[in-house]
Amino acid sequence: MTQRNQPWGYQNAGTGKAPDWELHPETTAVRGGLMRSGFGETGEALYLSSGFTYDSAEQAASAFRDETEHFLYSRFDNPTVAMFEQRLAAIEGAEACKATASGMAAMFASVASVVKSGDRIVASLAMFSSCFVVLTEILPKWGVETILVEGTSEADWAAALSQPTAAVFIESPSNPLMEIVDIKMVSTLAHKVGAIVIVDNVMASPVLQSPLALGADVVMYSATKHIDGQGRVLGGAVLGSSDYINNTLKPFIRHTGPSMSAFNAWVLLKSLETLTMRVEKMNASAQAIAERLESHPAIKTVCYPFLKSHAQHELAKKQMRGGGTTLAIEFALPQDQVFAVMDALRVIDISNNLGDSKSLMTHPASTTHRRLDAATQAKMGITASTVRLSVGLENVDDLLRDLESALNSL
Ligand SMILES: *Cc1c(COP(=O)(O)O)cnc(C)c1O
Repeated sequence: MTQRNQPWGYQNAGTGKAPDWELHPETTAVRGGLMRSGFGETGEALYLSSGFTYDSAEQAASAFRDETEHFLYSRFDNPTVAMFEQRLAAIEGAEACKATASGMAAMFASVASVVKSGDRIVASLAMFSSCFVVLTEILPKWGVETILVEGTSEADWAAALSQPTAAVFIESPSNPLMEIVDIKMVSTLAHKVGAIVIVDNVMASPVLQSPLALGADVVMYSATKHIDGQGRVLGGAVLGSSDYINNTLKPFIRHTGPSMSAFNAWVLLKSLETLTMRVEKMNASAQAIAERLESHPAIKTVCYPFLKSHAQHELAKKQMRGGGTTLAIEFALPQDQVFAVMDALRVIDISNNLGDSKSLMTHPASTTHRRLDAATQAKMGITASTVRLSVGLENVDDLLRDLESALNSL
């Protein structure tokens, strides 16, 4: 238990010496949060245990009074999950982290734990469709109002944030159109009216964008996406100050129960070790594909933040370390021909996941964003001719050849 409070969680079982310099993120991704048992295992231990025992009734009572640090029950905390949380917090540069069962559990808990009936939330319109349903259907049933703004318009944000607001929710880049919101500008406006700023950083991952450093208060992830990135488990995480995580979020999760399983945390701990390498390679391939496809005659637009043609290119360069692993492509073709291109792919799979080691293509209008009405889809820039391509770890030449031969098969 003594390791739990060390911010880097660094433990060198051999010499017991911790480094006296600040470690790079790749080092932290392999070493952060490690709590070795007495066996000195190299790989992180999987504590597949729902409960924990106490030396005495008094120790149990003291642990429940928060006077003794002791794991109580895996719905609250678990050693393997705690290792994942500490490792991700170290990579993100956040004071604290709470893991959840899925990205949507992270999104819902991060917002629902800070609002009450009568409160208002301001959010950018372009977002993942389940987040949209939470903000515009589920929370309003409980008396919480959501104001949606055009995320790229400073005037829209300023107008919406001219009165007391409980929370601001930003997805940047947005899924699927890769729209960029100015996190620093919105955070400054939001803090003036007392709002907590929550950023869905799924599309960028911790590797390409650090919202807390830009002024946001809370970052949330679907760990299902780049963090696992190998198509295996669902997971989520919320990161922020120790005060927010321990006093606001943890009680909400402890009592409502969307906790991460120890098994998934164990898988995700290993995924974190390769996160930087995977995202950097996928990002480089996505950039190359975006540049090459932009001039293809069957393509109307390629939306990718690090293309000069992207409407918020300058802003993206300022707040991101790369354009991301995902691009939106609007074909100059009707839907049946877009489907024909997708069906002609031989390497890239048709799948609605993203951030995976396998390249995946989806048609948002008929799948991930189907739940939104036509007007909302149109406002988000999703048309019948739009596809989202999540670029994986394959050789980029194979991906380009696959895309070009599918396009040329028409
Ligand atoms: C996938 C996704 C989520 C939800 O994550 P799950 O792990 O599927 O619950 C939230 N936000 C964005 C931007 C996503 O892409």
